[in-house]
Amino acid sequence: PNNRLENQTCIITGSSSGIGAAVAKALGAEGANIVVNYRSSKEAAEEVADEINKNSTSGEAIVLHGDVSKEEDVKELFKKTINHFGTVDVCVPNAGLQIDHPLHEMPLDAWKKVIDVNLTGQFLCAKEAIIEFMRRGIRKDVSNSLGKIIHMSSVHEEIPWAGHANYAASKGGLLMLMESICQAYAPHKIRCNSIAPGAIKTDINKDVWSTKEGRENMLKLIPYKQIGVPEDIGSVASWLASDESEYINGTTIFVDGGMTCYPGFTTNG
Ligand code: NAD
Repeated sequence: PNNRLENQTCIITGSSSGIGAAVAKALGAEGANIVVNYRSSKEAAEEVADEINKNSTSGEAIVLHGDVSKEEDVKELFKKTINHFGTVDVCVPNAGLQIDHPLHEMPLDAWKKVIDVNLTGQFLCAKEAIIEFMRRGIRKDVSNSLGKIIHMSSVHEEIPWAGHANYAASKGGLLMLMESICQAYAPHKIRCNSIAPGAIKTDINKDVWSTKEGRENMLKLIPYKQIGVPEDIGSVASWLASDESEYINGTTIFVDGGMTCYPGFTTNG
């Protein structure tokens, strides 16, 4: 731990598992206060918070419920965080899901649910974060930025994904959301970026990596020939939240072992 986030407070949505849990732990290891948000798994969220509290030298982790697709829940999440910690400095809208169907068989509900959580949920969180950043004003002793938003996107903000059009559309939408926020609020010293993970071993893709055939198919898509782990994203998130990356704004950082270099086009071995 470098304590790069001491005296800062971070909300990470959907952080009872997977990438969100790893990001919460990585930001906690930097000395930040952490809000572990969950929708359904309170116990798992408490385990994440307990681990952060055990290891942290300066911060505190708490657990807060909230469905990010509901405006009243997101408002309540921010209100409770501000009541407890005073403000919010870093927001990582990370909660996301997949409901896969070929497009011609996709029920409207499956389309709407994925857009509601993956895109609208991230909009609602970014909106509340910006409101709080501007209310609070800059604290130069804590960070050179007014606040930081780190959207959890995906390589599918760039790579089309047959059979997953709702998911790909949600992540493609995130790219323009993130860039539009940067364009509007960078003059206020707000930094807004995305992380685009490739194939990371979590519950969301367990059906693929848990079989030998699935793992082999996954590796064909990864030039680096290694499936990622949530900690690969945590370490990038903690750097992106810190002033070490201060001049990075309006960018997506791909953490994908080269997946966006389309290894299927390799012709010379
Ligand atoms: P995961 O299923 O472990 O995590 C998703 C979390 O979001 C879960 O804890 C879930 O409970 C939570 N969640 C779902 N709906 C919610 C809601 N309405 N409100 C609050 N929380 C909700 O999977 P993960 O891989 O850790 O996914 C995290 C993010 O990373 C997602 O946005 C996903 O799209 C993105 N991502 C993952 C991969 C990967 O390979 N694992 C690749 C690219 C992008």
